[in-house]
Amino acid sequence: MAFEKEKFWEDVKAAETIGIAGHIRPDGDCVGSTLGLYCYIRDNFGKEPEVFLEEVPKAFEFIEGADRVVTGYPNREPMDLFIALDCGDEGRLGKAMEYAKSAKKAYCIDHHATSSGFMENNLVIPDSAATAQILYTLFEDDKIGKGAAEALYLGIVHDTGVFKHSCTTRETMEIAGALLDHGVSSSRIIDGTFYEKTYLQNQILGRCLMESILCLDGKVIFSSIDRKIINLYGLGPADTEGIIDQLRVTKGVEVAILIRELTPRSWRVSMRSCEIVDVSKICAMFGGGGHVRAAGATMSGSRRDVINNLTTEIEKQLEAWKKDRAED
Ligand code: 5GP
Ligand code: MN
Repeated sequence: MAFEKEKFWEDVKAAETIGIAGHIRPDGDCVGSTLGLYCYIRDNFGKEPEVFLEEVPKAFEFIEGADRVVTGYPNREPMDLFIALDCGDEGRLGKAMEYAKSAKKAYCIDHHATSSGFMENNLVIPDSAATAQILYTLFEDDKIGKGAAEALYLGIVHDTGVFKHSCTTRETMEIAGALLDHGVSSSRIIDGTFYEKTYLQNQILGRCLMESILCLDGKVIFSSIDRKIINLYGLGPADTEGIIDQLRVTKGVEVAILIRELTPRSWRVSMRSCEIVDVSKICAMFGGGGHVRAAGATMSGSRRDVINNLTTEIEKQLEAWKKDRAED
């Protein structure tokens, strides 16, 4: 069904019970958009939606409403309204999918290129830098409180890599500027949640860079973190955030790959590209998805299988690109 803004707010107004959830392994945009919507509804409709997330990463705990997030996906009576944010398919929503299935009304608001339109009502804008950016366009500026503003700013900062990824547009900057007028402390959010690293994060970053390998004539860089290292350092998912971005800025590199072993022979894949390769297409081929320049998947096999499978697809895209250029 097509998304209608007025209808969406009517449904919010009419609902007695509202659930909001984001994707598994929540990142800045996931936490920022769910808590941004939570604060906005609380402040303007006088009701308390429940926010369901797998966890709230430590660095985001100061965002308003973070202390009210429900983890563990407990059983709930069917809700009047359920809203999935920053999440394009059932698998990414995880156990929160049960709430979506039983809810009287269900919406999805998302910006992933591979978003499948899996809810009753879907608002998917792949050109939008962040789900938080889409939410801003649904909100009335003068009804945004400081809590909602900080949450949306967090989402935009993280999904744009602090306004540097190619998804950053004039609209992104204008929205971020408008959010600053609501009292957001940009340095607290940018330094405190994006650049600041724990000692452990820096150690593992150093290790990944040192052990990284270049292939396809220096166009691809990859690094891997296996179970032995994860156990040795006691690494959680948040401890490896940002490593992929440092790999990507290696001179001459078009695609960066970081793989992390989840269980024996099962790998969490992160991919980033610079200008040519559509990594969302490659990740979608292996059951994942994401954006043209940033995507992920879970793949099985040996480290060598996973890297070979990915580099084969990258090579195909690079060859096709070269051929296109030669014909022009
Ligand atoms: P990351 O590498 O930071 O985990 O993910 C990069 C982007 O791809 C994010 O926008 C994330 O939401 C998306 N993404 C990561 N893993 C998956 C996946 O398994 N499936 C889908 N559909 N999207 C993913
Ligand atoms: Mn996002």
